[in-house]
Amino acid sequence: MSNGEQESWSRVKERLRAEVGDDVYSSWFARMDLEAIEEGAVRLSVPTRFLKSWIQSHYAERVLACWQAQESTVTRVELIVRSAVLKSAVLPKAKSDITADHASRYTNGNSNGRAFSPGDPSVHEALGGSPLDPRLTFDTFVVGRSNTLAHAAAKQVAGAKRGDPVMFNPLYIHSGVGLGKTHLLQAVTWAGNAAGERKVLYLTAEKFMYGFVSALRTQTALAFKEALRGIGVLVIDDLQFLQGKSTQAEFCHTLNALIDAGRQVVIASDRPPSDLESLDDRVRSRLAGGLVVEMGPLGEELRFEILKARVLAARAHHPAFDVPLPVLGYIAKTVTHNGRDLEGALNRLLAHNKLTGHAVTLEMAEREVRDLIRPQEPKRVKIEDIQRVVARQYNVSRSDLLSSRRTANVVRPRQVAMYLAKTLTLRSLPEIGRRFGGRDHTTVLHAVRKIEGLVGNDMALAEEIEILKRQLQE
Ligand code: ADP
Ligand code: MG
Repeated sequence: MSNGEQESWSRVKERLRAEVGDDVYSSWFARMDLEAIEEGAVRLSVPTRFLKSWIQSHYAERVLACWQAQESTVTRVELIVRSAVLKSAVLPKAKSDITADHASRYTNGNSNGRAFSPGDPSVHEALGGSPLDPRLTFDTFVVGRSNTLAHAAAKQVAGAKRGDPVMFNPLYIHSGVGLGKTHLLQAVTWAGNAAGERKVLYLTAEKFMYGFVSALRTQTALAFKEALRGIGVLVIDDLQFLQGKSTQAEFCHTLNALIDAGRQVVIASDRPPSDLESLDDRVRSRLAGGLVVEMGPLGEELRFEILKARVLAARAHHPAFDVPLPVLGYIAKTVTHNGRDLEGALNRLLAHNKLTGHAVTLEMAEREVRDLIRPQEPKRVKIEDIQRVVARQYNVSRSDLLSSRRTANVVRPRQVAMYLAKTLTLRSLPEIGRRFGGRDHTTVLHAVRKIEGLVGNDMALAEEIEILKRQLQE
């Protein structure tokens, strides 16, 4: 590709960003690349089928227009899925049942093809289906900057019909606590089951674990496995709690069988697949092979909208409950931690209002929610971010940091990055070593000690590290 073409592409991206805004741009276009320009046709690539179809149906004309504004010779824009991730995109179409191959794997060759009917409580129990909260639906989920992509993907999954090609599998959603993962997963379950097209089973990882383990104990593992075959969509919440070798082996098996058979798997966790330390590499890469979406912290605006929606909902039961907008604004501004605290704050106002009969005022709100106010939102720092920021700071590449090169200009940044990984994340030394090109934990320990020793004397380094920390925690 010529420099000129690359330059045009940069301009087109700038134009696009200016037109759709930063949020939309980073949700949908950040990972779009230019592949080729031939005879007026521009070929762009994205990593997943989902992104492709979304961009095609929502932004095709806009993208073309941006190109034409830049290069009047362009007549067509073609969108393809990049081959590196085709693995997840060329899965067989959903079949009405798991293939014979997998069925026999599941049932030790003793498959009689019996699938359970939707709504069969005994089977649901055998599987340990977790209870659902009727309030957690798409209707009550407020969409904002931080969750647009996750919401769109969840909607897509919930609305897919039996036999539709699977766009991304698994769908993996991760975020800090209280930011709406469970809400979104249960919404998928409600909506999917209401459509009646495919059976959606929602399990917490713990239920998966205990359902399976107890099924083994009562020797109904066969029934359990067979019942799993009747599932169109398997939803697993809080995957980070999955523990134990045999459970993980079974999880891996289930995941592979479902995905290979074109069944949808949806997962939520408090960390990205690469940080699920206890899972083995194959499972991690399988998890990362679908669509991985992070939900960021709820912004103030989103918190405000959630609060407004909550008050409306509460008024269905408590018609006299009235919260002035400035009070909602105050809560949205100050109670920043997560969705759960927002709910807690409103519950207090409601309780106070009901018990005392006093109207809700700003003064009352200030008093009632005082202890829910957080000075600052703790941010999850990821090892990847540390590597990126440190690499940028020291003008080396991220792969330099992971490489085995030992020249001074990469050794120090690498040590700094390891030190930051140890101090800013909860990751263990072996895990950090693994994430730095498969190094031994003693190497990490050495780096941490080295930097600790240096910052005591070297003011410039100490300051550098402070700046890096601030950048990462901002
Ligand atoms: P997580 O599973 O990520 O820890 P939850 O889904 O349990 O978080 O959300 C915590 C609370 O915040 C729930 O009451 C949920 O309904 C609410 N919440 C979070 N995000 C949203 C949103 N976008 N719209 C409406 N409510 C939300
Ligand atoms: Mg949850």
